[in-house]
Amino acid sequence: VIRQGQPDAFQVTTCAYCGVGCGFRAETRDGEVVRMTPWKEGQANEGHACIKGRFAWGYATHADRITRPMIRNSIDQPWREVDWDEAITYTARRLREIQAEHGVDSVGGITSSRCTNEETYLVQKLVRAGFGNNNVDTCARVCHSPTGYGLKTTLGESAGTQAFRSVAQADVIMVIGANPTDAHPVFGSRLKRRLREGAKLIVVDPRSIDLVAGPHVRADVHLPLRPGTNVAFANAMAHVIVTEGLADMAFIEQRCEMPSFVRWRAFIEDQAQSPEAVADVTGIEADTLRAAARLYATAGNGAIYYGLGVSEHSQGSTMVMAIANLAMLTGNLGREGVGVNPLRGQNNVQGSCDMGSFPHELPGYRHVSDASVRALFETEWGVPVQPEPGLRIPNMFDAAIAGRFRALYCQGEDVAQSDPNTHHVDAALRALDLLVVQDLFLNETARYAHVFLPGSSFLEKNGTYTNAERRISPVRKVIEPLAGYEDWEVTQMLANAMGFAMNYAHPSEIMDEIARLTPTFQGVSYDKLDHLGSIQWPCNEAAPAGTPTMHAEAMVRGKGFFAVTEFVPTGERSTRRFPLLLTTGRILSQYNVGAQTRRTENSRWHGEDVLEIHPHDAEFRGVRDGDWVGIESRAGDTVLRAVVSERVQPGVVYTTFHFPLTGANVVTTDNSDWATNCPEYKVTAVQVTRVTQP
Ligand code: SF4
Repeated sequence: VIRQGQPDAFQVTTCAYCGVGCGFRAETRDGEVVRMTPWKEGQANEGHACIKGRFAWGYATHADRITRPMIRNSIDQPWREVDWDEAITYTARRLREIQAEHGVDSVGGITSSRCTNEETYLVQKLVRAGFGNNNVDTCARVCHSPTGYGLKTTLGESAGTQAFRSVAQADVIMVIGANPTDAHPVFGSRLKRRLREGAKLIVVDPRSIDLVAGPHVRADVHLPLRPGTNVAFANAMAHVIVTEGLADMAFIEQRCEMPSFVRWRAFIEDQAQSPEAVADVTGIEADTLRAAARLYATAGNGAIYYGLGVSEHSQGSTMVMAIANLAMLTGNLGREGVGVNPLRGQNNVQGSCDMGSFPHELPGYRHVSDASVRALFETEWGVPVQPEPGLRIPNMFDAAIAGRFRALYCQGEDVAQSDPNTHHVDAALRALDLLVVQDLFLNETARYAHVFLPGSSFLEKNGTYTNAERRISPVRKVIEPLAGYEDWEVTQMLANAMGFAMNYAHPSEIMDEIARLTPTFQGVSYDKLDHLGSIQWPCNEAAPAGTPTMHAEAMVRGKGFFAVTEFVPTGERSTRRFPLLLTTGRILSQYNVGAQTRRTENSRWHGEDVLEIHPHDAEFRGVRDGDWVGIESRAGDTVLRAVVSERVQPGVVYTTFHFPLTGANVVTTDNSDWATNCPEYKVTAVQVTRVTQP
């Protein structure tokens, strides 16, 4: 409910939901937030917003907010409210005791893509310099870690190539495994505007998303792939382009490593990669796939936008490289209207990865084994940095069950709900001697916690987020932190209590340190952000105002690298016992695990997760629209309400993951990307049966 009365003050800040990063005016009256209105000068949104962002302030002051620290000795006991001093002293003492008993590597931390750059930077610094190991990971592990690996390997930088506005120059747009009108609505509107102006559209998705058939737009080609066959599809596209002489050889010879191209061409020309050879695997008729390949290669500027339907597979990293191959093959890089563009789900996925939240990389995507890079940080921090990569999130869970990993500091991430195979996560979290959760609400993970440190919402802090187009935007404090401290201050207090000194007076000082240590952020400062509004990195001496288009003169790695992308089918197959393939996605009004949007006006429009099932599959099982159905996989089972719909293909079912009770991740498996361990959320073999109401 929007409260009555005109606002008497406002701050310009950035939406804390998706990777579009819209600018907003957060308006207050008598010190209380009363409204959020899209900021006309916001460079990511140009005055537009979606229904998530407009109501985002609702959760910040929700009655469920926890504003006092809490402690308990075991998870069976009730919480005991304590003051900050006791909470921090207790946490620091327990972490040190556990390290003394079980070793330096027995503890670690998880950062969140919902937190600011400065907060995630401090958590990885606390782990590396305070804990003395590299056991730090981020929730990007479970969404876009394959993007980091794939784009760095092929192009040299772990980031999207374009500004959002670039889509206005595209002649053909290929959307792969993304649903921008629901998950990135403001960018989705820009994309639709370009389509109405005449750009062609290829949609690659097992489900018939809104872009396939209206309202207002219709895809020129829809490829409803069988889940798990992305790489076979991308290779077949490349096969057509190469064998029909549609490749941009001038671009390849000038901008790419020719030995890698020659090796890759021998692989891709093979008839085994042809649309005819993979038609049975992908479920796509060869003629349709050939039409898509010709359209992408010949229609002019070709831009690819992709989402978690690309990355959350056992071959997520391979598929990202296959997409980069397609862009290099057709010369679609280095100018407006083209490129390879990951659509990031959360507000600061790009930033949390930039800030060194991975166990193998320091800020700026530099490997911890590089002694010259470590020396930079060791000089700044005054302590040694370990040269061996630490544990990834799934490795932390395995090590916890094995008794080698005993304590976890988890800031802003609900691993119990968002990570796959809930039973495995449950066992890991129960095995910990100490779980410290820092969050706004008592989330699912807090059920296993021994210490709860109240978090601060985006309206209660200063900092920056980096969106999907590498745009660093200011987050400005609108109201005072309800629990007394901003999240970065809590991390700093914990570091100091553990004996590692941190003395920042303001997040701008953290950004200054990031700029000193990170070449792509060298020219970034709060003063410049105030002056320019936002900045797209790289921002340094060569590009003092930032870089809207990457790889303009040359690839960041020098020459583009064609990786051989062999299709390896996922081990997750449909069988007689589990005959359907479940895939997952988002809807317009809810965001991720729903902890925020379920506490806003958005719950008016979507109150539960449902299972979409094709009429043929529904009829075979005696399921009618609105019935309750049980969903069983090799990992577990859950119950959802059925929606009978031709949006999904026969043999495929689909659900969202915004509500904890239904828990789609109870059924998702431990399968993960071969390079990064990103979970294979998008393919789970299941059986669906009609049940009585749960
Ligand atoms: Fe913009 Fe995304 Fe926020 Fe919507 S959820 S207002 S598209 S940043």
